[in-house]
Amino acid sequence: MEMGEVGREGQGVNRLALNDANKEGRDLLISYMHEEGLDVSVDRIGNIFALRKGRDSREPPIVMGSHMDTVRNAGVFDGALGVLSSLEVIRFLNQHDIETRRGVAVAAFTNEEGARFQPDMMGSMVFTGQLGIEEAWKAEDDDGVTVKDELKRTGYLGSDEFHAGCFLELHVEQGPVLHSEGLEVGVVEGVQGMAWWDGEYTGEANHAGTTPLNLRRDALLAAADLCCRLRETAEALGHGSVATMGRLHPRPDIRNVVPGGAFFTVDFRQYESQRYEEGQKQVVKLIEEIAEKHRVSLSLEQTVDAKPIRFDTGMVDLVEKKTRELGLTYKRMHSGAGHDAQFMSYICPTAMIFVPSINGRSHCPEERTTKADCVNGANILLQCALELSEKGCRIP
Ligand SMILES: [Zn+2]
Repeated sequence: MEMGEVGREGQGVNRLALNDANKEGRDLLISYMHEEGLDVSVDRIGNIFALRKGRDSREPPIVMGSHMDTVRNAGVFDGALGVLSSLEVIRFLNQHDIETRRGVAVAAFTNEEGARFQPDMMGSMVFTGQLGIEEAWKAEDDDGVTVKDELKRTGYLGSDEFHAGCFLELHVEQGPVLHSEGLEVGVVEGVQGMAWWDGEYTGEANHAGTTPLNLRRDALLAAADLCCRLRETAEALGHGSVATMGRLHPRPDIRNVVPGGAFFTVDFRQYESQRYEEGQKQVVKLIEEIAEKHRVSLSLEQTVDAKPIRFDTGMVDLVEKKTRELGLTYKRMHSGAGHDAQFMSYICPTAMIFVPSINGRSHCPEERTTKADCVNGANILLQCALELSEKGCRIP
């Protein structure tokens, strides 16, 4: 709740990646980490790691965490819950003088949301070698400010290196499944694939009164058509496919001018690998067909292609076992949203824990998770960390 006040704007929170409030949140987090006597390091993309050493320093640590940045007008749980619960696990170890064989660490990744700089999950992508540091540093926000400039300005352009033995991420579900089914925990088996495109239709701006319908090249009409057809395409693909046009900017955006340009974004998601690849092809084909139909030209760039992920079965089974031992109700499920854990799974055994979002609300001020559910999530993290820190990250 203290962290949730950082970046507060009215009802919501604004800690967009590397803005002033995000820096303030990072500083507060690091002060908490220092209170626990942890070794804090910051890498080149500004990811923060805090290590509680184990008896055996040769083995890479058990890492838990999530992200501290938010969207605009956000709630307080998305990301912060995972980071602060991980810190709470370490507090518990400290309070009870529990020595672990392997080190236990907290990670806070930079720019998970992608709301200001793209791609999203930038910090975990760079950490896992899925995105080059130079490319990440060059990413610009809408005002042309780069990630590197902001890392420097906020004092988070680090140079430390960190190694993870395995990774656990506690996160709010951000969807309605657990709440509506009355379950306490989601044991997350994987993350659905996510593809993003930036597109622009260019037609011809013209007088709204004198240009007959059949002679128009209306870019907004093309984009609107695309918006409707995307939904049909996702429905036809089925199996949980979703497609969304989240941004649409007509040009010149004047009431009596036929729009000559329309910038739009498309977001497509699907959990099964083959359907994900097929869906991407169909989305691109649709965008192109609509350009032809409305006689507008098209520029299209794919900005994200995050393949569907299946988490390590040993780690997922461990989360399930601990959930059951704690007497909590749960279901195995996959994540509809992207998370840092999906990239961590490329380099080490990884799993995720979901706790319910009340009414499925997220990325809005109404985002809530009950205190009891937050405690459940932290307890599962703790139990998993204790077992992993003794037995190691490769679970048969
Ligand atoms: Zn998140």
